[in-house]
Amino acid sequence: MKYVSTRGGSEPKGFEDVILTGLAPDGGLFVPDAIPQFSQDEIASWENLSYQELALKVITPFVDGAIPNEDLRDLIFESYKTFRHEDIAPLVELDDDEWVLELFHGPTLAFKDFALQFLGNLFDYILKKRNQKVVVMGATSGDTGSAAIEGCRHCENLDIFILHPHQRVSDVQRRQMTTVQAANIHNIALKGNFDDCQNMVKASFSDQSFLPEDRQLVAVNSINWARIMAQIVYYFWASLRLGGPNQAVSFSVPTGNFGDIFAGYLAHKMGLPIKQLIIATNQNDILHRCISNNDHTTKPLEQSLAPSMDIMISSNFERLLFDLYHHDSEEITRLMSDSKAGDMRLSDSALVMARELFSSFRCDDSDMVEVIRKTNIEKDYLLDPHTAIGLLAARNCRIDHDTPMVTLATAHPAKFPEAVKKAGYPRDPELPSHVADLFDRDEYFTVLDDDQNQVHQFMKDNI
Ligand SMILES: *Cc1c(COP(=O)(O)O)cnc(C)c1O
Repeated sequence: MKYVSTRGGSEPKGFEDVILTGLAPDGGLFVPDAIPQFSQDEIASWENLSYQELALKVITPFVDGAIPNEDLRDLIFESYKTFRHEDIAPLVELDDDEWVLELFHGPTLAFKDFALQFLGNLFDYILKKRNQKVVVMGATSGDTGSAAIEGCRHCENLDIFILHPHQRVSDVQRRQMTTVQAANIHNIALKGNFDDCQNMVKASFSDQSFLPEDRQLVAVNSINWARIMAQIVYYFWASLRLGGPNQAVSFSVPTGNFGDIFAGYLAHKMGLPIKQLIIATNQNDILHRCISNNDHTTKPLEQSLAPSMDIMISSNFERLLFDLYHHDSEEITRLMSDSKAGDMRLSDSALVMARELFSSFRCDDSDMVEVIRKTNIEKDYLLDPHTAIGLLAARNCRIDHDTPMVTLATAHPAKFPEAVKKAGYPRDPELPSHVADLFDRDEYFTVLDDDQNQVHQFMKDNI
């Protein structure tokens, strides 16, 4: 299997090289040149597999022999050892055939652990085999940074630099990053906002001349293909628990960068019967406007109580468009330049195709808080703000009640005490026992100006 750029202007890469990179040199994102397919019989035969064995089935065709199967198996088993629930991704029924898929039992309490625990092990394996060293660099508004740090802390052949906006992430989120003590982990608190961090990372990737000659930058945000790939697994997992593949299942996905829901789209393309995929957004609703009204105009970013979805430009949307436009790279390049100029419009046929599977919904802070309050009172179940948005979207968009509806619970409520307390919860929600001492641990981070020379000098000094 080869991985090609959505914009058609970069050399195709094999699996290992695509993992050790960021954007394609032409500015596009790497995608597999063909999506693997499974028959209904084959999927049905996986019903009794453990999460890890299922992951091996789903991931194997993407790796396509680049890693021997026994080694891949070991990497996958190692990656989910850190999860605190025996089912890895347990399903909880909230109401009649209304389910929540809990994706927050990993070390940093958000779904990002599913991909980043695996990606860290993958990095370690590939780099050791090649005797190569790399530099991982990423910007975070909260959850990605801690998951990436937890994933990479044991990797000997890399240094990881995570930039977060100084004094603009929650205490829990910051401490999850800064209390991990390892020589290869470098937390930078940048004096700026999340966009400044993101721009710093982008500029560094596009001109890497500041690095020592034998180093290259590697991405850990969801432009990295391995992140999407690892997330496909739990769609199969949930479906098989609920009667799939004989029974179709619907999913509602709290969406920011369109990575998690794109994994659901791929599961569907691979043969998993999915009836609806619901794009749940907060007041930063560009994806909802796009699907419901072909309105993809950018607006100023609003800060919400579900900050992991405060995103205006969803990078993985390009991967969906590439598929909807039948791999027409020229068309994608044109659309992306329109998008950059602030007014992208999809063709009627692309929109019709998208709407066959996707619905969308927008939920603002006050409605979200109300869902947390009601669900806690009526069901004795505490939602995090992102999951609450997903649940409300599921209820609003559901087209039939014979199809099980699964909302992806993307984070543990203890990560977002502000929203939970606004919903009437009387105290900070309890941290699970493995992180209960988070506020007693020492913190390590360096505050830097939003200045490229300063950041690059710091990186050089610490590689
Ligand atoms: C990252 C994140 C999201 C958004 O996921 P995308 O893959 O960017 O769409 C939603 N909820 C939480 C809690 C997150 O950390």
